[in-house]
Amino acid sequence: MANVVIIGAGIVGCALAARLAENGVKVTLIDQAEVVAGASGANLSLVLWSDAEPGVSLTMTRRAWDELPAEVADLEARTGLDLEFRRIHTLSLVLEGMDPRAALAGGAHLTEAGFQTELIDPAAVHALEPAVDLGGVQAAVYQEQAAINPFYFTLAWADRARVAGASIVTGRRVTGFRMDGERIVGLETAGSGEPVGGDLYVLAAGAWTRALALTAGIDLPEYHIIGEACVTEALPPLLHGLVGEAGDNRVPFELELAARGGDGSDLRLAEFAAIQTMSGNLVVGQVSHGGPGSGPDGRQGNRPAVRPGALRDLATGLVQRLPAARSASVIRAWAKPVPFTPDHQPIIGRVASRPNLFIASGLKSALIITPLLSKLIVEAVIDGDLGSLRPFSPGRFPQGGFEELRPGG
Ligand SMILES: Cc1cc2nc3c(=O)[nH]c(=O)nc-3n(C[C@H](O)[C@H](O)[C@H](O)COP(=O)(O)OP(=O)(O)OC[C@H]3O[C@@H](n4cnc5c(N)ncnc54)[C@H](O)[C@@H]3O)c2cc1C
Repeated sequence: MANVVIIGAGIVGCALAARLAENGVKVTLIDQAEVVAGASGANLSLVLWSDAEPGVSLTMTRRAWDELPAEVADLEARTGLDLEFRRIHTLSLVLEGMDPRAALAGGAHLTEAGFQTELIDPAAVHALEPAVDLGGVQAAVYQEQAAINPFYFTLAWADRARVAGASIVTGRRVTGFRMDGERIVGLETAGSGEPVGGDLYVLAAGAWTRALALTAGIDLPEYHIIGEACVTEALPPLLHGLVGEAGDNRVPFELELAARGGDGSDLRLAEFAAIQTMSGNLVVGQVSHGGPGSGPDGRQGNRPAVRPGALRDLATGLVQRLPAARSASVIRAWAKPVPFTPDHQPIIGRVASRPNLFIASGLKSALIITPLLSKLIVEAVIDGDLGSLRPFSPGRFPQGGFEELRPGG
């Protein structure tokens, strides 16, 4: 593979650009905004294994987790950046009326994969997080998870890509593909600049992937939610790890959204979670909804806005659970789309009817898996075989769930 164009400079696109360029491939990475402008710069910084789906995702997550410290050390050594990688516990609080077993979401399959999960009593919750006031509740605790600075993590991959010779083009929005029969022969972009073209096109545009694939006549069953979060000014140490609420409402929420073809600005899911950065800022998330325009045509605004009510919900949640943060100022709030697929697995691989289009998207959480996933994708691109990524192939979706549109349709 001589010449690869990657669309989307989030963590996935940047890691792919670095690894491909290091393998001697000529790489152009293009983004409508700048590096780390999408969900990769809008998340809660969590390197979580507790989210992994049973099966191949979990096996891969286990491997990714085991390899991560060495990957981070390597990235830090190459770039000179401190990625603020640290082990933390995460607590899922069992609030009144919740089934404590539900808090240990997927506990059995995680334990089988060698991860430690346990339910702890209110005294133990208090010992772990003394500043959290919940009037005595149990919690599921995951002792050994991690956090990382998501900006530095993504920027480090971009830096590594540049050093390896990749060209990074920012501020250039891809509006479509130029086709010759089934093959893509170039990109249509907004604004001026040199034409961008290559032998292979990798769509790593996160939640925007579906809209872009549509312009190549491909309808991927990939939807998105818009997650809203905020960050406070720096405060003295209050939290040691992540404090969140237990609950299993996300899957039904996403399934409802998918059943509606992605259209659900009236659907809302509040999942409280708070973590303190190494600089002392509290990052608080997240209220999610189906975005306006997240409907069947897959299009959406490039900059979804934070709804006024979301900020109030986030602040109320924070003050209820962490009274010491009562007078903290919120310095920034944001809303960014996160993709998901009906089976909660990413979409990785070539599209049969578009031989030089490769999809690398659909990651609802990416920080833990990207170093490994990018390695496997690069092997797949170079060898022309998906190997262990085959379960994530776009071809897995049944007729009707993944349609090729008529050319120009
Ligand atoms: C509030 C919130 C909390 C989260 N918490 C976590 C967490 O704690 N841990 C975790 O692992 N994950 C978390 N996630 C999810 C995680 O951020 C995403 O899974 C991850 O960032 C996806 O990376 P990506 O590279 O696929 O996409 P993105 O980072 O979204 O990158 C896509 C890029 O494509 C570019 N693009 C889009 N359209 C075009 C176009 N037409 N032309 C050119 N460029 C284009 C965009 O500008 C963007 O830079 C969270 C997300 C949110 C919003």
